[in-house]
Amino acid sequence: MPAVTVADAKATALSEIPSPSGASAPITAEAVVIGAGPCGLFQVFELGLLGISAHLVDSLQHPGGQCAELYPDKPIYDIPALPVCGAQELVDRLLEQIKPFKAQLHLGQEVVEFAPRDGGRFHLATSAGVRFDAGAVVIAAGLGSFQPRRIGIEGVAGFEGGAIQYRIRNAAELAGKNLVIFGGGDSALDWTLELLPRAASLTLVHRRHEFRAAPASVARMQQAVAAGRMRLLEALPHSLITTDGAVRGINVRAPDGTMHALAAERLLVFFGLHPKLGPIADWGLALEKKALTVDTEKFQTSVPGVFAIGDINTYPGKKKLILSGFHEAALAAFAIQHHLYPQKKQFLQYTTTSPVMHQRLGVPD
Ligand SMILES: Cc1cc2nc3c(=O)[nH]c(=O)nc-3n(C[C@H](O)[C@H](O)[C@H](O)COP(=O)(O)OP(=O)(O)OC[C@H]3O[C@@H](n4cnc5c(N)ncnc54)[C@H](O)[C@@H]3O)c2cc1C
Repeated sequence: MPAVTVADAKATALSEIPSPSGASAPITAEAVVIGAGPCGLFQVFELGLLGISAHLVDSLQHPGGQCAELYPDKPIYDIPALPVCGAQELVDRLLEQIKPFKAQLHLGQEVVEFAPRDGGRFHLATSAGVRFDAGAVVIAAGLGSFQPRRIGIEGVAGFEGGAIQYRIRNAAELAGKNLVIFGGGDSALDWTLELLPRAASLTLVHRRHEFRAAPASVARMQQAVAAGRMRLLEALPHSLITTDGAVRGINVRAPDGTMHALAAERLLVFFGLHPKLGPIADWGLALEKKALTVDTEKFQTSVPGVFAIGDINTYPGKKKLILSGFHEAALAAFAIQHHLYPQKKQFLQYTTTSPVMHQRLGVPD
C-alpha cells in the first residue's frame, strides 16, 4: 500500500516494508496523525519543530482534505499573511513547509482500528492492513473520511466492490468487458477515456446535459460518441438487471421517462465523495454532535495521549476555520511532547533564533 514521504507526496508508489514473514510488522511511531487535511499537515510541522516524527494517514489518495477534495481552485482569503491563496496552493505550501521532517504519508487508506495498549501506547490499523504502535495519536479527521457516493438503487449491496465499482483498483480486469460508467465529473470522464480503447463496449450515463469535468475531456468524449465508439445517455440509474446472481446490466431512465436497458458486466459509478465520521465514532472517545470533545490547553480528547485538532473537535467557542486548526496544532504539539517525554523540560523557542529548530528545518545558521 502507498507509503510515501511528504517529499514525494504526489507519487503513490512505494510499498509498506514487509516483515521477513511477509506480513507487515507494526510500525513503531512517536505520533500518528489521522487525516492529511490542512490541520493534519500543519500538525506534522509543529511536531517536527519539537523534534517529534509523525506518520500521516488519509483515506484519500492525495493530501489536502477538504481543500484538495472539495474546492481546490477556490481562493481563500483568511490565511494570515497570505491575502489570497488557492486551496490547492495552500496544501502545496504546507507540503513544502513540512518537507524537512520527512513524515511518512500513508494514502488511500482509512484508519479503521484504534485501541489503547498497555504502557499508554496505542494500536492503530488501516483498511490496507498497515498497523501502528503509536506513542500519541492526533485525530485531524475533519468532517470524516471521504467515502464514495453510492448508486442508490435496490439490490446493489452484494455487488459493490465487484460488478459495481466506485474506485477502480484493477483496470486490467475491465478489458474486453461491456462497461457502463455513471457520472459527469473528472473521474467519470477520465476513466471513460482511459477504458474506451480496451472495453468491449462503453456507455457513459450522466443525469444532465452539462458536465463538471475538464472541457478538454468532455470534448474528447463527445468526439468518441460522434465517431460511434461509445454511447452517451442523459439518464438516471433505475434498476439492476441480474440473472443467476450475476449482474447483466442496468435499466436507466431518461428525462422523458423512457427506459433503456444497458447490457454490462461492470457498472463504474463516479458520483463523487462525501465525508463520513466512520469508525472514529466507535473508538470510545467522548463525542458531542459527531465532534470529539477536547480541552483548549492541550486539545486532548477524553483519552490521554489522543488529541484532536481541526474540524473534528469541539470546545466552547469552536470555529471550523483552518487558522483555528493551526493554533490547535501548535498547542497539541507541546502537549504531545509532554505526553511522550514527561521528564523533558519545555520551553518556547522562536524559529527565527533557535539553532536547534534551524537544524531541524535544515536551515543554515
Ligand atoms: C467550499 C468550502 C470553502 C471553505 N473556505 C474556507 C475558508 O475560506 N477559510 C477557512 O478557514 N476554512 C474554509 N473552509 C473550511 C476548511 O476547509 C476546513 O476548516 C478545513 O479543511 C479543516 O481541516 P482539517 O484538516 O481539520 O480537516 P479536512 O480538511 O476535512 O481533512 C480531514 C482529512 O481526514 C481524512 N480522514 C478522516 N477520517 C479518516 C480516517 N478514519 N482514516 C484516514 N483518514 C481520515 C479525510 O479523508 C480528510 O482528508 C471551507 C470549506 C469548504 C467546504
